Amino acid sequence: MPRSDPAPGLDLGIPRGDHAAATAQAARCPGFTPDDEDEWAADEARSCFNCRWRRWTPASFRCLAPTPPT
Ligand code: SF4
Repeated sequence: MPRSDPAPGLDLGIPRGDHAAATAQAARCPGFTPDDEDEWAADEARSCFNCRWRRWTPASFRCLAPTPPT
């Protein structure tokens, strides 16, 4: 039976729609890199929801930054 690979990246536990948490996380994250503006999902420019390294999951997102955020 094939083994499933663990999901890549880091789950920060920020639910979709929690803009305050996503903004706070991005404010202290040196890896924040703005995504193309048509991919933005938050009004606040600096937010995990607008970051090039976030990959959406059904309930949240995972961070695929080369250097994991702290
Ligand atoms: S690198 Fe990861 S933790 Fe940092 S702002 Fe982007 S998605 Fe958020």
